[in-house]
Amino acid sequence: MDTAPRPGSWARAGGFVGLVAAVDGDQLTLFDPGARRQQQVPLAAAQVVPAAAVRVTLTVDLPLPHGLDDASVRRWVALLADPVLRERAAEAMAEAGLDGGAAEPQVGMDARALSDGLARCLCGATAPATAGIPVTCHVCGRQAAPPVEPPG
Ligand SMILES: [Zn+2]
Repeated sequence: MDTAPRPGSWARAGGFVGLVAAVDGDQLTLFDPGARRQQQVPLAAAQVVPAAAVRVTLTVDLPLPHGLDDASVRRWVALLADPVLRERAAEAMAEAGLDGGAAEPQVGMDARALSDGLARCLCGATAPATAGIPVTCHVCGRQAAPPVEPPG
């Protein structure tokens, strides 16, 4: 890699794939947000991993009481969506002699590449972009992932 990739882009070094989270001279720090791990790698050993704008939708059907606040629902859904947290919660409830039902609802996930002509940045900004060509975010300066070609 000749020039350092911008934060927000994805790169691979050895078997590690992560977001570019820091650039320091000829060192990159890659961060894998799913595994919550980081790794510092030499710039020369890193390869850019192409990324596209993708909409990920999580869905879950829950029995909810009227008035349960948004923050509680979000935290519960986050627990259900993360298999590690779900398993820990189920174990903790079992150890406490509680019904484990709160850890049972299944979360569906749908991921669709976006073909609407807009790049997506981690900061939430969108910018017009050509399919397949990453752009610099005009709001934060990170790299924004481009859309894919519209179908057909
Ligand atoms: Zn941005």
